Amino acid sequence: MPYLVRERLFIGNIGDAAEILQNGSNEITHILSVLSSASITFFTEWRSGLSIPSKEIRKVYVGGSGSDDDSGSGSKSSLSPDKLLYSLEYAGKDLKFVRMAVPLRDMESEDLLDYLDVCLDFIENSRKEGSVLVHCFAGVSRSAAIITAYLMRSEQLSQEDAVESLRESCESVCPNDGFLEQLKMFEQMGFKVDHASPIYKRFRLKLLGDSYNRGEKIDGSKFGADPGLPAENVSPNVEASLNKESPSTPAYRCKKCRRVLALKDNVLGHVPGEGETCFGWHKRRSGNPFNRSDDDECSSIFVEPLRWMTSVEEGGLEGKLLCAHCEARLGYFNWSGIQCSCGSWITPAFQLHKSKVDISTI
Ligand SMILES: [Zn+2]
Ligand SMILES: [Zn+2]
Repeated sequence: MPYLVRERLFIGNIGDAAEILQNGSNEITHILSVLSSASITFFTEWRSGLSIPSKEIRKVYVGGSGSDDDSGSGSKSSLSPDKLLYSLEYAGKDLKFVRMAVPLRDMESEDLLDYLDVCLDFIENSRKEGSVLVHCFAGVSRSAAIITAYLMRSEQLSQEDAVESLRESCESVCPNDGFLEQLKMFEQMGFKVDHASPIYKRFRLKLLGDSYNRGEKIDGSKFGADPGLPAENVSPNVEASLNKESPSTPAYRCKKCRRVLALKDNVLGHVPGEGETCFGWHKRRSGNPFNRSDDDECSSIFVEPLRWMTSVEEGGLEGKLLCAHCEARLGYFNWSGIQCSCGSWITPAFQLHKSKVDISTI
């Protein structure tokens, strides 16, 4: 039996969903399925003999229309543009249910954040029209993570308080640690997923690092846009960000040839001297390191990978970063990390020596 979490909001497992889809429900009208496959055939593969009719409403891909991720700007999703974001269909007995399905595996490295907006909006809208069941396979991790995010956003709860509150309805919920970290980021970003936020950029870089460590080919299209390109080649988003704060946007330029290498937004700050990787989200002891620029004791700045860093795309674990215009040596990159002069380890690291760059405004 599904558990009631809030009025018109239930959490359950695949068995609950199958039962409702097959036999109908007096209460539930909408179903949000969070399984490793979005296809309704997942149910029949899970239990042969089940037959659940469905009729597609639409499928939406990450890079599809309405997405803000088609511009090659520095502010984009970690998901590949051709990945299915969700499918929407009529399903179940008499095709009476509206089912949204998102493909998500229950793994710590899975990108939950980029599915939250569509899932939370679906829950919100479904509760206006009827009642919604959010389910995954076991009703423990994925569905719980999404409902936690929903409670956080709708009731302005911290991640901890939202999980606690959900546990009062359903004792067994337990989002995996990777999801809990992402929900913490969701809280720190103000209950939204802000692709331009340093918090999100760190997350995206961590996923890139994970994918590098799995031996996958480096996808340069996931790098930040090159702020040093002439305006006519720059995507509208970057141009907007260049003009937005103009003329006072701080920029890092090559000391030798003055080419713009990075903007303030591309810099991923760290807490000087903290001997942890900058990705130890829950290991932070004091203050909020996000948005903080590097202290004077740091001899380097660390940035997100940017399109001009062609040496990174060659696939090596580490290498030099050369100016795209004059080929001056600016610093190093290393997927397994570089230690800053202040003692902090940055992993993965894309480092520019302060002695090789000038800070000026555009
Ligand atoms: Zn440092
Ligand atoms: Zn240069």
